[in-house]
Order: sequence, then C-alpha cells, then structure tokens
Amino acid sequence: MNISSSEVIYALNALLGEGGILESSQDMSRYAVDWAGDRLGSPLAVARPRTTEEVAGIVEFCHRHRVPMVAQGGHTGLVGGALPDAEQPELVISLERLNQIREIDPLNFTLSVDSGCVLQTVKDVAAEHECDFPLSLGAQGSCQIGGNVATNAGGLNVLRYGMIRQLVLGLEVVLPDGRIWNGMRALHKDNRGYDLKQLFIGAEGTLGIITGVVLKLFPQPQETRTALVAVPDVFAALGLYALARRSCCELLSAFELIPRACLELAFEAAPDLPDPLETPAPFYVLLEITASGPVDLEAMIEHLFDSGMQAGQVLDGVLASSDAQAARLWRIREAMVEGQQLHGEHLRTDIALPISTLGNFFNEANRAMAAISPQTTVIAYGHLGDGNLHFNLLPPAELDLTAKRVLLHALETELFAIVEDYQGSISAEHGIGRTKQTAFLDGLSELERELISDLKQLFDPDNLMAAGRILPRVTDPAIHYQPQE
Ligand SMILES: Cc1cc2nc3c(=O)[nH]c(=O)nc-3n(C[C@H](O)[C@H](O)[C@H](O)COP(=O)(O)OP(=O)(O)OC[C@H]3O[C@@H](n4cnc5c(N)ncnc54)[C@H](O)[C@@H]3O)c2cc1C
Repeated sequence: MNISSSEVIYALNALLGEGGILESSQDMSRYAVDWAGDRLGSPLAVARPRTTEEVAGIVEFCHRHRVPMVAQGGHTGLVGGALPDAEQPELVISLERLNQIREIDPLNFTLSVDSGCVLQTVKDVAAEHECDFPLSLGAQGSCQIGGNVATNAGGLNVLRYGMIRQLVLGLEVVLPDGRIWNGMRALHKDNRGYDLKQLFIGAEGTLGIITGVVLKLFPQPQETRTALVAVPDVFAALGLYALARRSCCELLSAFELIPRACLELAFEAAPDLPDPLETPAPFYVLLEITASGPVDLEAMIEHLFDSGMQAGQVLDGVLASSDAQAARLWRIREAMVEGQQLHGEHLRTDIALPISTLGNFFNEANRAMAAISPQTTVIAYGHLGDGNLHFNLLPPAELDLTAKRVLLHALETELFAIVEDYQGSISAEHGIGRTKQTAFLDGLSELERELISDLKQLFDPDNLMAAGRILPRVTDPAIHYQPQE
C-alpha cells in the first residue's frame, strides 16, 4: 500500500459521499464477523457503493494505490472468504447497497439484478411475475445473489435445477484494475467463443467483483408435495432415491438425508417442533416433488411409498397434508443446523461423493472417526440426491477449545483423505475461502496448480483482490506452496 489508511478513507469518502464509508470499529463490527460468529476480521474500512460505477471507482483507486480489498455479500459463506484479513487489513467492499432490480422479462423467463440483492428478494420478485427462481437455501434471507454466484451456490433443489452456474445467463464484473466487463446478455443460447462469465462463477471474488447478474427463471410450481420417510439405513435411502428418480422423473426437486441425531438437534433448537412420526427411526428422507402443470403428485408419492415398503426401504412416512405441515417438516431441516450452533466449536464440512459410493463411504468414514475419537458425535446429513453430505463433527463437550481444535483438525485430515480415496470433493457448496486452502491445494496436480495460478496472475497480477482466498497470499503456488508430507 503506497498510501495511509486515513488517505484511503478521505479519498473514498469523496467518491461515495455520506454513509458510503464506515470507519469506526462500532460501525464496522458487523462486517468483521461472519454468520457463524466463530471468526473475526479487522477491516481497514468498509466501502458501501450504490452503483457499478462506484464499485469501479473504488477498485481503480485500490489498484492504483495497491490497497488490498475483498468483496462482501451476506456474509454466510462459512469458509472465511468474505472476512477481512485480521493481520493485513483489507478494504471491505460491501455490496449491500447495490441492490436494485434492473429488469424482469417474463416472456424471456429472465431477471436482471444488481449483485447485492438478497436471494429471498430475488425469489419474491420472480414470484410476483408468476415465475420461479429455484435456488433455495437456509441462508436465503441474508445471502446475496453476487455471493451466490461467487460461491456457485447449490441448495435444496440442485438435483432438479442444477447449481447457480446453470441459472446464470449474464454477468457484469468489475475487474481488479477497475475496468467494467459488461456481459449482461439475456440469451438462452450463445456459443460465441469462450464463455467468460464461467470464470467468475465460483471464483470467490478472486478474479473480479460481480455487480450485475442475469438469471434464468422457470414457470412457478402449481403443486408441491412434501414427505418425510423413515428408512433403516443409508443404503435403503439410496435405494429409495433410485426409485424416486425413476418414478417421479424430473419432478423430484429435493431429497435430503436426515439421521435421527439431527432430529434431536432440531428439537434442542426448536422445542416446539413435534416428532413427525410415532416411532423414532435411525434415518429419515425429506423429499419434495413439484409440478407446474396438472399431474397427480399424490398418486405418484403413494406409489413411491408402496414400492419402497415392498423393497424394505421404507419403514414409515408422513405426507404433508397442508402447506403448514410441509413448512414444519422443512423447519426440522433448518432447526438442526441451529442445533449444531448451540454446541459451540464443531467441524462443518460440505463434501461430495459419487452418489453410488455414499453408503460405503458413510460406513468407512464413521468407523475412521470412531477409531480416532469414540466420544466425537458424527452429524452426517445433506443433499443425498446431489451426493453432497455435511459430514459434521461435534467434539466431546468436556475438552477445552484448544484440545477441540486439535482433535477436529486430526479428524478433518482423516475425513478428507477418505474423500480423496473415493474420488470425491472436499467442497461441494461453500468453496475454499481460507479455511479449506491447504486441503484444496494438496488435492491438485502440479498442472492444475500452475493453470489456476496463471489465471489469477492474468486477472490480478498484484494480488490485491481477495488475496489469500483459494490460493495462498503469495500468487504463485507452484513456487510458494509446500505440499504437506
Ligand atoms: C444456514 C446456512 C445454510 C446454507 N446452505 C447452503 C446450501 O444449501 N447451499 C450452498 O451452496 N450454500 C449454503 N450456505 C452457504 C452460503 O449461504 C453460500 O455460500 C452463499 O452463496 C454465500 O453468499 P453471501 O452473499 O453470504 O456471500 P459471502 O459470505 O458474503 O461471500 C462469500 C464469498 O463470495 C465473495 N463475494 C461475495 N459477494 C461477491 C460479489 N458481489 N462479487 C465477487 N465476490 C463476492 C466473498 O468475497 C467471499 O469470498 C449456507 C449457509 C448458511 C449460513
């Protein structure tokens, strides 16, 4: 940085005007901690632009004066990506005020928005025009569409609609030197050379700041059926999934695996939630089918229950008879995440495996965790229909914080080694950020490391934007990264 912090604040105040820059530690406190509240950063200042041109002005200034910067959306990413560095203060560029709906075209089934729009707002606007934007996730009341694109978010309906990569038609991006790339086309087909927007999707803000997004919409579902099914084990859940994929075809929009331990966590966080079935079961599947036209969903789901019972995959089940009952079933899914938070320090993961290997993986990983720490509780649930598990670990409560962290690190290392053996991914949702960097780089080939590093070098040779996310702070991991023994 060739300029003092107060000069940065003075210049950006002039650029953004009243309320555009926050500098007191009290004003900046909510930008310095993420959703889980277990990590703290230390921003140089927080810039809150309202337009793409203001974002470009800030970035150009930072580029000229070598000021490190990081984009921040709704702060729900959970891998430390949007948190300002604690040691080397960065300018946080919060997109929260860049939040206008630009254009909706119901005939083209597209919606153009500023990147700071909250996901729930985007879904509401689509619904007002009798369209559906299908990305749905627990953090949708806080996360922003720019953050969703930057992390290639998935969520509950991936098995039907894909990740957000499949839902983005156009992007507008401010590059690390302040130039604006306008790729805001609303085309469903476009095969002109390289598809540049794909580079920014999932790049976690390391190649540019997303300021505008053109999203693909769908017809609104007219009918939805939600069911909770008790199953004896993960293999039975997988068998039921195979049946559901064939008998409900593309109407199957969610298929979530929930072990009994997760229900208990949900009851801890929300004691008013009723146990959905009379007899407790080892595992449950929460599934949903939706249709935009006249289809007998009830008959479809009953047929699935019957076939599952005959095959020994279904023990019991409940089909929601009202929207309120369906909402209560989905509330279990949310509350069990809140229940984990109540237990303090724990390990959260978002791994992915080929669906057909999930049963064997599940058993092997459970055995491996128990061999290291029999008192640790495994909380493994997730989007089974996408092969994506949150294989989370609650360490013994009596350990102190340092001992918990040492144990969780050992367990994570072992877990990721098993994921690698099964040719899986250590990050199916939240990205790499800063917390998964070593494991990510360990899993890359030398050629992959070189290509990724060259890409970063091309866009951001001074490594000023989101430095230390995905790649190490020093830009050339081929030289500076030392693989672990
Ligand atoms: C309860 C809960 C449930 C969740 N469920 C899911 C789920 O089902 N599926 C899933 O995929 N994720 C899930 N997540 C993770 C999280 O919600 C997603 O990663 C989300 O996309 C992050 O959006 P955000 O706006 O909060 O981004 P932030 O956390 O603010 O930022 C995430 C990363 O993107 C960068 N970034 C943010 N905005 C921009 C921008 N405009 N331009 C460039 N870079 C930017 C940041 O620098 C950071 O590296 C969940 C999180 C929580 C807390």
